[in-house]
Amino acid sequence: MLNNVKNILTIRNLKTWFPIKQGIFAKTIGYVKAVDGISLSVEVGEIVGLVGESGCGKSTLGRTILGLEKPTTGEIIFLGRKLIQAGKPEVKKIRKKLQIIFQDPLSSLNPRMNVLDTVTEGLIAFNQIKGSPESHAEKLMKEVGLEADAIFRYPHEFSGGQRQRINIARAISLRPDFIVCDEPVSALDVSVQAQILNLLIDLRDRYGLSYLFISHDLSVVSHIANRVAVMYLGRIVEDGPTGKLIEDPLHPYTQALISAVPIPGVKKKGAVLEGEPPSPSAPPPGCRFHPRCPEVMAICRKEDPERRHRKERRVYCHLY
Ligand code: SF4
Repeated sequence: MLNNVKNILTIRNLKTWFPIKQGIFAKTIGYVKAVDGISLSVEVGEIVGLVGESGCGKSTLGRTILGLEKPTTGEIIFLGRKLIQAGKPEVKKIRKKLQIIFQDPLSSLNPRMNVLDTVTEGLIAFNQIKGSPESHAEKLMKEVGLEADAIFRYPHEFSGGQRQRINIARAISLRPDFIVCDEPVSALDVSVQAQILNLLIDLRDRYGLSYLFISHDLSVVSHIANRVAVMYLGRIVEDGPTGKLIEDPLHPYTQALISAVPIPGVKKKGAVLEGEPPSPSAPPPGCRFHPRCPEVMAICRKEDPERRHRKERRVYCHLY
């Protein structure tokens, strides 16, 4: 299926706005512009990290790609097919190839379902069981580093890291091509985070998977991603190869994010961010980052910066 395809996913000018309603007639008085004009691509076998503060729209972007949120406008092209325009039967077929791993390993599992039912639910729904469900589930346990007898246990009987392994087993059960990993290690102890990241890398290598890896933590993303896109208030402000972006960040917001977290071997550049991001229902005019930017200029308050290509990066800033 992936022969001769370079990009598994291409997003063009994607917007996901949520209406703000008021009064007894529920009149729309504005929009929360959670995703506001994102263009991004993911190559086959690539891990693209998506970083930004909480509330910047990164999870909404992931959910829109998966069809869990309805986009307002734009294009999502998955394996050459336009997802937004696709009919229901085609979406169902494509859906198998697109999966998600959620942040909270406990709440994303049904406490009344044992592991066997959890990891074979999708296989049964898509009529993919050959042989016994137990044999499928045991194979999945092995793939994610759990014992075969785990299939008869319930979520509360596992540690956080083990529960996330079960979530990963469920996500790979239908042999997808692409997984949105939405903060998959944020709720885990630091000691367990590296094990889960290594498992995700191992599965990518074994099955040729591609990931959109969403995280607020640049040090986690720097460990796993080939490329990083930095998001601020519904838009991407800089993206490029991980090493270059981390060692020599161009956008003042990327610089501030890197200054806020210790990354081994990386020198800090730029001031630590102060204040909260403005509301996505009323983004500031000009550059959206200007009220918090230490390098703000007069033009930044008036004009939205256009995309520039610098040092293998796409960057949106008047400094370039
Ligand atoms: Fe700062 Fe201006 Fe660049 Fe925005 S455009 S990041 S305000 S320097």
